[in-house]
Amino acid sequence: MSLHYLNTAELHSALTEGRLSSRQLTTACLNRIEMLNPSLNAFISVNADQALLQADRVDEKRRRGERVGVLGGLPLALKDNICQKLVPATCGSRMLQNFRPPYNAHVTERIEAEDGVIVGRLNMDEFAMGSSTETSFAGPSLNPWNRQRTAGGSSGGAAVAVASGMVPLALGSDTGGSIRQPASFCGVVGMKPTYGLVSRYGLIAYASSLDQIGPFSRDAFGAGLLLQAIGGHDSRDSTSIPVSAPSIEEIMAGVPGKLRVGIVDEHFGEGLQPEVGDCVRQAIAELEAAGATVSKVELPHSKFSIAAYYLIACSEASSNLARYDGIHYGHRADQFSDMTDLYCQSRGEAFGPEVKRRIMLGTYALSAGYYDAYYLKALKVRRRIREDFDRAFQSVDIIAGPVAPTPAFPLGEKLDDPLTMYLCDIYTISANLAGIPGISVPCGFTSDHLPVGLQFLAPELQDSRLLQAAKLFQQRTKWHEQHPELS
Ligand code: GLN
Repeated sequence: MSLHYLNTAELHSALTEGRLSSRQLTTACLNRIEMLNPSLNAFISVNADQALLQADRVDEKRRRGERVGVLGGLPLALKDNICQKLVPATCGSRMLQNFRPPYNAHVTERIEAEDGVIVGRLNMDEFAMGSSTETSFAGPSLNPWNRQRTAGGSSGGAAVAVASGMVPLALGSDTGGSIRQPASFCGVVGMKPTYGLVSRYGLIAYASSLDQIGPFSRDAFGAGLLLQAIGGHDSRDSTSIPVSAPSIEEIMAGVPGKLRVGIVDEHFGEGLQPEVGDCVRQAIAELEAAGATVSKVELPHSKFSIAAYYLIACSEASSNLARYDGIHYGHRADQFSDMTDLYCQSRGEAFGPEVKRRIMLGTYALSAGYYDAYYLKALKVRRRIREDFDRAFQSVDIIAGPVAPTPAFPLGEKLDDPLTMYLCDIYTISANLAGIPGISVPCGFTSDHLPVGLQFLAPELQDSRLLQAAKLFQQRTKWHEQHPELS
């Protein structure tokens, strides 16, 4: 039996009922990684020994009849910006090539406590800045549906690993779409939870008021299971909300009765590739056939979301990345004349061009004289965007639309044109600005056989509603059961 594309519920029950051991499944994943990773570049590092040890520990617990956590011995992988004690966390950057965090992230602790098996660490855009994994110092991840195309980003490695059957589950981070967009490009489920539902303790910061860790899976069940494991309050993150994550039973039991679906005209306007629009419209018609009602809602300020996001994210990044100076943290240059020169040489050598661009943009936006005109103005727009969502969610339960304007684009196409790259984020970014949850679910293919994603957005803390809508859609369609042919 090939284990690579079994859905998460089947894998989970095979483990729970003892028909499959965690060691068998972990070994199968490690073999598949060994076979496919050289050509897809999803993993930056693999920790086979540690993973097998953990798998044996879970199997042993089960043999002894002890309580096994919700992840039940499922293998998974972490984006390379999530800390694991003493395991290199490069963040896709030369700056952190030799960094071994002295502690575990909250989500790492939770995964261990819930008996997940971490097999390795996933490729990403440098410091999570990008939409194609091409800014990674480790080179781009390749899209398993077409290796000339990008995997999306910044959590591209996570999307590729799940889409190619290397692991059933993965964790990424989403600051402006970095889970949902690569999930859409690679044909898997990717979810950004409500801001504050998953602790950021031990997530290497990009833009702290927007960053959120979330799950990748091939199905709604897997995403819900992983969210249950990692979600909930943590006092070490001051923005963590004092609630617990929805349980997988609660998610799977709830069938959205008469789902009220909102659609936004601007999501289907200029810039949207027609084939993507067609898939998304058909998907919404499928929801209607399942009993949902569809009506229009307005998000009048979302047209300012890219401008507001890139000001806020870069401003926060310029502050967060100040610690990488070759002394506190990060690469230290060999040659320097004095202290200032040490900072300049170290940062100049180890940051890539996109990171430098953002540090400069953010430093400028925060500087005296420009702070009010740029940063403060962006914060005001952010507030308006949130108010638009609050108003829209008075009449609908979820908002449905495209994840990205195009399917996976060719490698190299947008690398020299940052503005076009930033435009990829047009439909995903406003959820981060508003702090609300969003999910990408596979909903079809283009004529070139590239996957297309459907995005659902829900009000703050209605994460289970999103997963239920995804489950409903997956009960009626088979898009998530299609897999790339790989040899
Ligand atoms: N593409 C966006 C950016 O480059 C999103 C990044 C993210 O969500 N980490 O900022």
